[in-house]
Amino acid sequence: MACVLCASNNEVEFPAEMILHFPFSGLHNLNKNGVLIYPKVLVCLDCGFSRFTTRETEVAALAKGVGRQMKLGSRRSPPTAEGEQLRSA
Ligand SMILES: [Zn+2]
Repeated sequence: MACVLCASNNEVEFPAEMILHFPFSGLHNLNKNGVLIYPKVLVCLDCGFSRFTTRETEVAALAKGVGRQMKLGSRRSPPTAEGEQLRSA
């Protein structure tokens, strides 16, 4: 799959870990811990455009944290750099 920004095929997938913090306004949500996620980030080595997909269990934790529900059956497995399908957690 080519980069969606510059159409380069010079993309590499990197394992990563990151914390997504809940959006806040004033003091609302400031006391909530973020959600630690472990995405595989696909980085274009020509323009730097990067993308990743959050795993289903991680999306559910984010949705719960903002008081919403994940829509069941709406997920598609994203393509990876190697053309494999990411395994749903
Ligand atoms: Zn690019």
